Amino acid sequence: MNNPLTATLHEGVEMPMHGLGVFQTPDGEEVINAVNWALEDGYRLIDTAMIYRNETGVGEGIRRSGLAREEVFVTTKLWNSDQGYETTLAALDASLGLLGVDHVDLYLVHWPSPEHTEATWRALEHLQAQGLTRAIGVSNFKPHHLDQLMATAQIAPSVNQVELHPNLQQQETRAACAELGTIPQAWSPIKQGQILSDPVIGSIAQRLGVTPAQVVLRWHLEEGIATIPKSVRRDRIRENGDVFSFTLTEQDLDAIRALDIGDRIGPDPDTFGG
Ligand code: NDP
Repeated sequence: MNNPLTATLHEGVEMPMHGLGVFQTPDGEEVINAVNWALEDGYRLIDTAMIYRNETGVGEGIRRSGLAREEVFVTTKLWNSDQGYETTLAALDASLGLLGVDHVDLYLVHWPSPEHTEATWRALEHLQAQGLTRAIGVSNFKPHHLDQLMATAQIAPSVNQVELHPNLQQQETRAACAELGTIPQAWSPIKQGQILSDPVIGSIAQRLGVTPAQVVLRWHLEEGIATIPKSVRRDRIRENGDVFSFTLTEQDLDAIRALDIGDRIGPDPDTFGG
């Protein structure tokens, strides 16, 4: 995989627009293998979280790859029960220990929790100033959550990672991100496989001689959306990474844009984060 696409974050940090997600990938050999295969194929971003309970294996996988630490962009996330100022500082310290690194590249607030937003974000700004994370961002923030955060923030989020796929295109959130210079990053970018049987996607894939997953992942990138598809399978990790040797036409992009039916497969951030 030749993975040339990066975004420049607020902090001046270069973030790969494509990476590997490891939600529901068990710790130990399974996550170590997934990380290793991805890095072998040219992926340079790994997306984990404290709540995935596999940060230890992610760190081990990166070390076993033989790549230098600075060649791999590592994202982890603050879990809901750790929100608040002191608890956030302690949570990143714990994640760094599990990963076995002295800093991460991106630290995200996993879900909005309006009563804690001000203190939690102040802690993230502090962690960034200390060099314990190179960039800071949020996840699952709707426009009103971003407004609340910006009312007290010194630094705008670099990234907002949200559920995003052709059936849930998140236009309002993407517009709010654009105003802040925040990069939208898609979780469940292939709708956990559920978008792959869509006939529109299928016919584009057939015409281009690529797979439905490759069409969907390419669509994200052409829309300026960062992607982190998850797989534990060697063949699928390679397939999902091989999205840099073809392009979609304007008609393809429009046909996929027409698949937006507002269908969420994960929790609604207004009722989940607490
Ligand atoms: P994805 O849309 O990446 O889909 C993953 C599922 O699709 C798995 O079941 C995988 O199975 C299967 N799959 C992967 N590639 C293919 C393929 N080419 N063809 C057919 N099936 C395939 O869903 P996720 O929910 O995992 O989202 C991606 C990442 O986003 C997560 O791993 C995590 O890092 C992040 N995330 C963040 C959230 C947040 O709140 N911030 C919430 C949810 C996810 P298999 O592994 O067996 O190949």
